[in-house]
Amino acid sequence: MQLLPLDNAKQRWGAPCLLIHRGDLHQALLERVAQQEAITLALDTDIAGFASGHEDIEIVARRGLLRASYRGDCLIGADGLRSFVRERMVTFLPGTPQPARLPAKARYTAWRTLIAAEDLSPAFRKPESVLWLGPGAHLVHYPLRGGSVVNVVAVLDDTVAIDWSADLWSAKGDQQEIASRFASWHREARTLIGAAPEWRKWPLVDLDPLPQWTAGRVALLGDAAHPMLPFLAQGAAQAIEDAAMLGAILAPEKPIEPSLAAYAAARRPRANRVQLSSRRQGRIYHLGGPLAYFRDLALQKENPRRFLARYDWLYRTRPVVK
Ligand SMILES: Cc1cc2nc3c(=O)[nH]c(=O)nc-3n(C[C@H](O)[C@H](O)[C@H](O)COP(=O)(O)OP(=O)(O)OC[C@H]3O[C@@H](n4cnc5c(N)ncnc54)[C@H](O)[C@@H]3O)c2cc1C
Repeated sequence: MQLLPLDNAKQRWGAPCLLIHRGDLHQALLERVAQQEAITLALDTDIAGFASGHEDIEIVARRGLLRASYRGDCLIGADGLRSFVRERMVTFLPGTPQPARLPAKARYTAWRTLIAAEDLSPAFRKPESVLWLGPGAHLVHYPLRGGSVVNVVAVLDDTVAIDWSADLWSAKGDQQEIASRFASWHREARTLIGAAPEWRKWPLVDLDPLPQWTAGRVALLGDAAHPMLPFLAQGAAQAIEDAAMLGAILAPEKPIEPSLAAYAAARRPRANRVQLSSRRQGRIYHLGGPLAYFRDLALQKENPRRFLARYDWLYRTRPVVK
């Protein structure tokens, strides 16, 4: 077992290590959006088309049977893994190479659950993020919401065909299936798996780094720009970094197209590195046989400080370009 002291993250990287429930992060962002007069939030509304001109861009939005058209300076496609904006951009806008097709099959499945802390023994409630590694799978758990719940994520090697038209977020996972996948694991891991009230599961995919994130007045952000596997827990973090960079670069007095190009130039190298490193991390986490033995040996022998130093490139905060 290796224990890494993350309580000095602020000292080491310039920011504390925080764990937040997705819904709580959404709520915090929503509260900031509500304070901004310049932002209008249109829920349940899809971008259904866009046409980029020299002076501005026209966007067609669809809400049920209603359609509305808007004109603006630019379109930021922050529409996730299955990005409509990305698909249209690579298909129709000039100068965008290679369509980025989503794979028909996933190599991994993620299983997630929240367990009430009171249903678990104190060992699982410590303010620690715990990572278990095993052949073809790994398991992560940590407390959230002031320690009232424990978040559990299990990622399994699993070749599954994906129906991209389905709602991939809400598939139920079968308790017996996951229990059998972890049947030979340590007793504590099995206890945790057995304590889950229910599971949700979905396939995990990524893409190779895109050759281009912008075309004229259109730019991609977040998973639309760099869908990555969650082995470094960085997808949302990178989306937020994209947004910070874009916010720092865009200004009313600056021309749009060069600003968007500058945003992509500033962000792509780092996001690409995180995307590819996440993929590699997955292969290392799920090793089996002799390679797993040597991985574990190296992890046990590694000095915790030196181990953390390997992540300096990822976590050290840096000033945003102005
Ligand atoms: C198992 C798992 C664990 C993860 N763990 C972490 C973690 O610990 N840390 C981390 O940082 N990241 C993590 N991630 C990654 C993270 O969830 C994503 O990277 C992040 O949600 C991407 O944010 P996004 O805003 O780019 O896209 P999304 O969150 O997918 O949001 C896209 C939005 O666009 C909307 N949309 C789609 N199409 C349209 C359209 N045509 N018009 C209008 N709107 C549209 C969607 O409804 C959605 O609201 C994890 C992912 C998985 C699967």
